[in-house]
Order: sequence, then C-alpha cells, then structure tokens
Amino acid sequence: MSTTTEKTVYNPEELARENVKRLTPYVPARDKFKNFNHSPIYLDANENPFANGINRYPDPHQEKLKQTIAVRKQVTTKQLFVGNGSNEVLDLIIRTFCEPRIDSIITLPPTYGMFGVLAEINDVENRKVPLGKDFQPDTKKILKACDENTKIIFLCSPNNPTGNSIDESIVVELLNNFNGLVLIDEAYIDFSTKESFVNQLHKYPNLIVVQTLSKAYAAAAIRLGICYASEKIIRLISKIGLPYNTGLLSQKWAFEILRSHNQIKEQVKVLNREKKSLFKYLNKIAFVKTAYPSDANFILVHVDNSKKRYAELLEQGIVVRVPKVPKSLLNVMRITIGTPEENIKLKKALLNIENENSYE
Ligand SMILES: *Cc1c(COP(=O)(O)O)cnc(C)c1O
Repeated sequence: MSTTTEKTVYNPEELARENVKRLTPYVPARDKFKNFNHSPIYLDANENPFANGINRYPDPHQEKLKQTIAVRKQVTTKQLFVGNGSNEVLDLIIRTFCEPRIDSIITLPPTYGMFGVLAEINDVENRKVPLGKDFQPDTKKILKACDENTKIIFLCSPNNPTGNSIDESIVVELLNNFNGLVLIDEAYIDFSTKESFVNQLHKYPNLIVVQTLSKAYAAAAIRLGICYASEKIIRLISKIGLPYNTGLLSQKWAFEILRSHNQIKEQVKVLNREKKSLFKYLNKIAFVKTAYPSDANFILVHVDNSKKRYAELLEQGIVVRVPKVPKSLLNVMRITIGTPEENIKLKKALLNIENENSYE
C-alpha cells in the first residue's frame, strides 16, 4: 500500500462486479417517449387509463427532482442517484461492487449499524476497525486491514452514534491511499459546521457521498436517499437499481421540501441552539459521566447505568436509544434533540431522576 499522497491512477469502474458490468438493464416502458411534446395516448405500460393523479407510472429517472438537487448541490444530474431512503442506496452500492463471499468492506464501529447488516445480507465480509482517539478513524490500521478484495471503506460523518465529524485530513488520506471506494454517509451533514464532501467530487474518482431527507430535511416518511459520485459510478449503480424505486408522491414531496430550504435552515439553527443548551445541562447531571460534543442532531451520553437510566426516562414518557456499541463504550445513551418544549421536559425528567437518586 502506497503511503505517498499521490493518487494512484485507476478506474473505479473496474471495481464493479463482473455480472454488473455485463448486465443489460431493464428498460421501463416510459423511457421510450419521455420528451413527447403533445400529450400522447399512452398504451404502452398496461396502466388503468382513467386519470386519478396516480394511475401513471412515475418518471423512472426522477429528472425534475434531480435537477433541483443538482442546482442546489452544484453537481450534474448524472452525478446523482436517488433511492428509496439512503438505506436502499447503501445496499445498491454494496451490490454493485462487492462479490459475495469474495470481497470485503471496512466499517469503523461504533457507527451506523446498517452498514454491517447490509454487508451480512449480501454475504460480504465486514472488516471492523474500531474508531480511535476522539472517535477518529485510525488510517494506518484501516489501510492495513485492506487487501485487493476490499472494495469500500464506510465512513459516517458526522458519525452515528458518536456525533463527531471525521477530520477532513483523515478522509483525504484515505481517498488518496486506498485503491477502492471511500463512502461517506452524510446523513447529519446539515447540522454540522463542516463542509460536505459533495463539493470535492471532482477531485476524487473514488469518492461516494450519501445523504438523506430523513433527518434535517424533516421527511423521513417519504423515504428519499441521495447518492453523489462520478458519472461512471452512478451509471453502474443505476444499472442494478429497480425501475420506479421512488414513487410519484415521494418525488413530489421531495421537490417541495427542497424548496423550503430556508425553513429547514431555521429549524436546524433552533436544534443546534437546543443541542448546545442540552449539552451544558447534561454535563451538570451527577449520573452523567460524559456528554460527547456533537456535530449532529443528537448527543451521545455516557452514564453510570444506561439500562437503568433508559427505564427511568421511559417511565416519564421519554424514549431515548441505547445504541449497540463495542464493550469499551458500555453505558451510553443516544439522545435526539427535540423541540424546545420537549427539551424542557427532558431536562425536568433528568433532574427528577437525579433528585430521586439523592434519597437512595
Ligand atoms: C438515519 C440515518 C440514515 C437514514 O437512512 P434513510 O434510509 O435515508 O432513512 C442513514 N445513515 C445514517 C448514518 C443514519 O443515521
């Protein structure tokens, strides 16, 4: 493995599975007459012809939605793939590049649990290289864990459940030194002070960025995930994506929600302010050992006994999450930032627990 910062020239297209390279994709009926000027009589897709707003198949390429995203993110529509939530996108990326039982991926626990689950579903080896100091990736250990069959390094920044962003220099080092794909899951990027790697797509042919409308964009219900990568990578992923994977209603909602960008920005401001206040509060609570700084819309909290504290919060009607973490990080809880009103209730509940305990 080269340790220089000079990029080895290779073609990420080569990394795809042979069956994917060979595949001739299905051509949806509505592909043929997309730019027909007059309203034709559609007798090509066996739909019910009586109009009700949803009787026709949606645009299989989500052109209108992609154009909106492309303008906003300053990429081309050919650098975009839109999926049924980012989970579908992540699954497709593994299936495009990883040969079951032969290839491997790298994940950095504690991180988003779906990475490992998707590897298992696809019978692809998941090589775990735990995050190091301050929850930053250990590049030396990661590169050492890779071999010629390691296709993708999964990064999550800001990371779920730890909340921190990965240092830009570390991401760049991996992009420059790994002869495979570096995927960054940016589900929480809109809460972060750091810049998205989408802006660096032109520099790195092996970079894939995944985002979602499920978090900051307040649209978890419509299931809309976005993949940004080079045209070549997007073309490969699109080959195996199922036709019409995003419904008409999701496409419409996504289009609308992206237009309400300014309102989302305001909400993110409020949530980040709430996060700051909750962070301070948590660090004053006796049973909290550490509240970790967060670039996302949640805080990872190290407590004395996570099971007990989880139950006590639940008793007061508050549901938090005890994430699956390595043994070295036992007794943590992940608390999502709610509305200002919800946070007042959360703080009261924390205080109640603390007061109850002082009489024990
Ligand atoms: C919540 C979350 C997602 C969202 O997945 P969707 O399928 O888009 O809802 C993706 N990645 C991470 C790291 C998350 O925490």
